[in-house]
Amino acid sequence: MARIETPKRIRGTQDIFGDEQRRFARVLEAFEKVRRLYAFQRVDIPVFEETQVFARSIGETTDVVSKEMYSFEDRGGDSVTLRPEFTAGICRAYLTEGWQQYTPLKLVTSGAVFRYERPQKGRYRQFHQIDAEVIGAAEPAADVELLAFADQLLNELGIAEGVTLQLNTLGDAETRDAWRGALVSHFEKHRGDLSEDSVVRLDKNPMRILDSKDPRDRPIADAAPDIDAHLTSEAGAFFEAVTKGLDAAGVKWTRNSRLVRGLDYYRHTAFEFVTDRLGAQGTVLAGGRYDGLIEALGGPHTPGVGWAAGVERLAMLLEEPAASVLDVIVAVEDDQAIGIGHRSLRTLRDAGFSAEMIATGSPRKRFDKASKVMAKVLVSINVVEDRFVINTRSVPGTLEAERVTALLSAVLEAVR
Ligand code: ATP
Ligand code: MG
Repeated sequence: MARIETPKRIRGTQDIFGDEQRRFARVLEAFEKVRRLYAFQRVDIPVFEETQVFARSIGETTDVVSKEMYSFEDRGGDSVTLRPEFTAGICRAYLTEGWQQYTPLKLVTSGAVFRYERPQKGRYRQFHQIDAEVIGAAEPAADVELLAFADQLLNELGIAEGVTLQLNTLGDAETRDAWRGALVSHFEKHRGDLSEDSVVRLDKNPMRILDSKDPRDRPIADAAPDIDAHLTSEAGAFFEAVTKGLDAAGVKWTRNSRLVRGLDYYRHTAFEFVTDRLGAQGTVLAGGRYDGLIEALGGPHTPGVGWAAGVERLAMLLEEPAASVLDVIVAVEDDQAIGIGHRSLRTLRDAGFSAEMIATGSPRKRFDKASKVMAKVLVSINVVEDRFVINTRSVPGTLEAERVTALLSAVLEAVR
């Protein structure tokens, strides 16, 4: 018979199991906990959108739109794209679902996002983001709140040590135009030494050259004029309010005047939480203020600020998470007691205990098997002289044993 070839996992995708799964769960649980503390509400949005949602809001000249999108024509001939990030889809929903009536909105979401990139450690084609956005708040307090949220999340995960918040301002429209002019004249002087990509950026979106990872561009980018000389007094005051707020909230930050976000409508605050523990994939969380995005989607002028973090990168930074411990393991040492076993499990689980039973294989070996399971309480169920007998043994110092014994005694009472 011809051998059937096993299908492969698609390059850049992941099957998340065991230790990795526990790490993922820890990131998502911490995110859920902290978003409650900050009173952000959860939304879920589609995995795919009309291509123009991303093209218009992320910008045609960005790597994400020009090289990394999973776009295809559906059977009806419409161009759709798997979401490469969340902000664009959330802003689309804000406009199409009438969420304007609830502004200011503090939202979070999480899930899979898709980018056609070269896979490597910490870089996948299907990866996962957690995302937080404040829509409809123009004041610097919103930026502070969002950054405090991110900072507290890293604390909650125990990874704040070794992760630095780098902060910059991109100013207001006037500031950006003036700075853009200064950047263009600087880069024009070095046009011949720039990478091909950056020559294209110079004509379309010169600020993005600062963001280039190409070693040919780095010295030229590092020598570029920074924004400070061009900051209007309003933009300067906004940045100062953000930094003062962060200091007051106890959020540590450093200035990185080279930090830019790829997109044209980014204004004021731009930031990244960076670590050197992940090699080239050192940015774990990034975001900024995008006061022009909703207009780019055809909506009314609406301020917004947000961030996204890679779940994989956060998970990689975690300490080895403890393997999960069961509350109760039940060894059913006599097949006649299987019914009691099922009933006991249900009773324990109804009372909120995690529980499993061992009721297969040689009855004499079941107790041994059960004692090897990581559990706080071990229960054995036996039949002695036609009576069911339950024994409980617990890890010293655990409080559950008494409750478990009481619950299971009641089970026995009920069947007598
Ligand atoms: P990078 O410079 O690493 O490509 P980016 O600027 O494209 O990052 P953002 O668009 O700001 O990243 O996305 C937010 C976060 O999502 C990043 O800080 C990172 O943690 C994560 N991320 C981005 N791309 C990937 C990927 N391909 N695989 C895994 N995580 C990613
Ligand atoms: Mg990228």
